[in-house]
Amino acid sequence: MPLAVLMSPEVEEALGSQMAQQVRSITEGTCIECRQPLDAGPVNVVLAIGPLGSGSVRLVHDRCAPSAVVELTAEAEAAVIQPKGGLDMTMTAVMVEGAPALIARMVMTPYTDPGSGAAPTNVFMQALVESGFRLVTAGLDAAPLDQWIAVFQHHGRSLQLIILTPTAERFFHGTVARPPVGWIKAVLGRRRVLLLGGDVAGSHDDDQDQQLALLAGAAVRGQLVGARVAAGRPADFGLS
Ligand SMILES: [Zn+2]
Repeated sequence: MPLAVLMSPEVEEALGSQMAQQVRSITEGTCIECRQPLDAGPVNVVLAIGPLGSGSVRLVHDRCAPSAVVELTAEAEAAVIQPKGGLDMTMTAVMVEGAPALIARMVMTPYTDPGSGAAPTNVFMQALVESGFRLVTAGLDAAPLDQWIAVFQHHGRSLQLIILTPTAERFFHGTVARPPVGWIKAVLGRRRVLLLGGDVAGSHDDDQDQQLALLAGAAVRGQLVGARVAAGRPADFGLS
């Protein structure tokens, strides 16, 4: 089910009809204001544009912010082109052959056009590879990556999750809905979680079997990267 997406005339005009249509078909996301998942209620589109004309489409709860075009600083624009957290992504907990994993999906995948007729580059995947993530093939496994940490704690039936990069920047901060049975125990037993990202179709609403099929599809297309990162509760990292 697409979200109930609302946009001001100003935002709609700036996006253009094709992009506006694409944004209206979005089915999930996280509010960039309150960091809670978007739900059945109205969702406003905030279009952030920097001085070079690059930008990002952000979704917010109607109760959190109005639909508007906002200006990005040059620094913020650089962060959109080279994401270091703050981009709108969802996280899904799955079990891959008994091992706990997280699937990171961008709500709006940022692309850059390398010019000269080459295919646009998926900025998200590129950024992950530059951070040390490696291409994941049909085996759906990846090597450990030092100094990244995933810290989670219970939040009702969901998990509150923060993933930090080696420079302590937030790669992700948000909610993981309904982890599968045994997922938390498996993470705590291994002290690691397989973090997968790239161009994975589907959404966090798909069931476990669908998730695995979508991961396999992305791996076959060469559009899946991953790494095993340290994971645990705040106390496991001396944080609580
Ligand atoms: Zn919100």
